[in-house]
Amino acid sequence: MPRNKEDAQEGEWTDCWNCGGSGYSHHDCGEDCCACLDPEDNVPCDVCDGKGGWFQPYPQPLLEQKQLVEG
Ligand SMILES: [Zn+2]
Ligand SMILES: [Zn+2]
Repeated sequence: MPRNKEDAQEGEWTDCWNCGGSGYSHHDCGEDCCACLDPEDNVPCDVCDGKGGWFQPYPQPLLEQKQLVEG
């Protein structure tokens, strides 16, 4: 299946399993021993590239059905 940006829009938004959709995977303030009272996630998630999720392309059969209905 070809993968380009336009195809990527055709799908369902899926929250990243790693960061839960926040786009940040964990907290890192640069200190060896974190002393933050309220450590906030500030490291962009590797899995979703900091986007918090991605478009999950529709399964092929679903696409065909959609085209049939619309066509
Ligand atoms: Zn910290
Ligand atoms: Zn993520």
